Amino acid sequence: MLGQTPLTNFQTRDVESLLHPYTPIHKLKTIGAVVMERGEGIYVYDTQGRGYIEGMSGLWCAGLGFGDEEMIEAATAQMRALPFYHIFGAKSSEPAVELAEKLKEIAPVPISKVFFTSSGSEANDTQVKLAWYMNNALGRPNKKKIISRIKAYHGVTVMAASLTGLPGNHNGWDLPVDRVLHTDCPHYYRFGTEGESEADFVARTAKSLRDLIEREGPDTIAAMIAEPVMGAGGVIVPPKGYFEAIQAVLDEHDIILIADEVITGFGRTGNWWGSQTLNMKPKTISAAKQLTAAYAPLGAVMVPEDIYQSYVDHSATLGSFAHGFTYGGHPLSCALGVKAIEIYQKRDILGHVRTLMPLFEQRLKKLADHPLVGETRFCGLVGGAELVADKKTKRSFDPKQGVGPEASRLIEQNGAILRAIGDTIAICPPMIITEAELNELFDRFEKGLDQAEAWVS
Ligand code: PLP
Repeated sequence: MLGQTPLTNFQTRDVESLLHPYTPIHKLKTIGAVVMERGEGIYVYDTQGRGYIEGMSGLWCAGLGFGDEEMIEAATAQMRALPFYHIFGAKSSEPAVELAEKLKEIAPVPISKVFFTSSGSEANDTQVKLAWYMNNALGRPNKKKIISRIKAYHGVTVMAASLTGLPGNHNGWDLPVDRVLHTDCPHYYRFGTEGESEADFVARTAKSLRDLIEREGPDTIAAMIAEPVMGAGGVIVPPKGYFEAIQAVLDEHDIILIADEVITGFGRTGNWWGSQTLNMKPKTISAAKQLTAAYAPLGAVMVPEDIYQSYVDHSATLGSFAHGFTYGGHPLSCALGVKAIEIYQKRDILGHVRTLMPLFEQRLKKLADHPLVGETRFCGLVGGAELVADKKTKRSFDPKQGVGPEASRLIEQNGAILRAIGDTIAICPPMIITEAELNELFDRFEKGLDQAEAWVS
């Protein structure tokens, strides 16, 4: 059991050398890290020989699971041909162009150009810079603020973490920076009031956005960024009609909508894009993660022609488009992006996700009856179960009790990796999972929750 056995030599080396992201680093010397050695299909294996179903696709990203031979071959071929080149200063490479063309083909809205980054955070950071650049080009130098939402997760760079609406990403980090505004989180279960219908909740949320815009002044606001389904905020699926209501307010005030599709892109919700599932009509899109099925780091920003033209005009005045990352458009990552999309298409991964969705829904709905679970939420193959102290009143556990982390630890002991987001247990399996494997994953999930219930009481 974690925390009860002395650290192995390797775990000691790990503690002595690595600064781990999103880890209670003050406890690491006691708990040690689980050291993964290899992966195959939906399974990963640690150095102790234990196998786990990777029920989170790593970090919502390994949609094709591990060890896909076609991906490995594509990587090898690209490494041999051209292991690195950049696309700065009018240089280019075939994989970058091929991937940009593919993205234009499958985008949910008309897209003219694709800008590559190395991560989702960099994509969202770039979105903000591009919104500023565009409004400078259009002679609107004051239209610069960006609206995000409470509980949103947009990454960890200074601006992406500012857009993020989670206290842990702000407290202690001197964030958020100015020019960032946070509006309501569309979580009906938590923020709907007594007797309020979902439709009324949506109307109130849209009114709150309108009030914010009018208070700040529409001429000072460039864009609003939103994940179709909030992931790291606790898998929050907005109520029906939410994006239509929000979009109407934004359109009225000439504020563009940016879709953060970093988790929801490439089939996760049963369509290519979460925007399609949630009826969002974004002007620009951020993508990453399943873009390469996590076989290499890559992010992308997609923009339409009219916005692109504003960059062209502005660059003509300034001399150059002075933005770019050394590894943006990396040929290895782009070749893997091309291959991942090809696999999604030829193996009909979207069709497979849709086939699995009823079972995913049925198993999560069954979990909602568990004594520890207050609400389950899902969209496509991403879901969450929120653990509560009192099902009837929805009373949460004291965060100091650490019920969510303990539950995920117990689930892990049963051979399934899920993620505790506070007291919500998130589940986001590789899209290649079979029905039998999905049932096995939920069986392990339930077993861990039963043990967590015994631990709580
Ligand atoms: N946006 C969303 C919706 C995410 O879930 C994440 C990461 O989980 C990011 C952005 C940041 O991506 P990255 O970790 O690649 O910087």
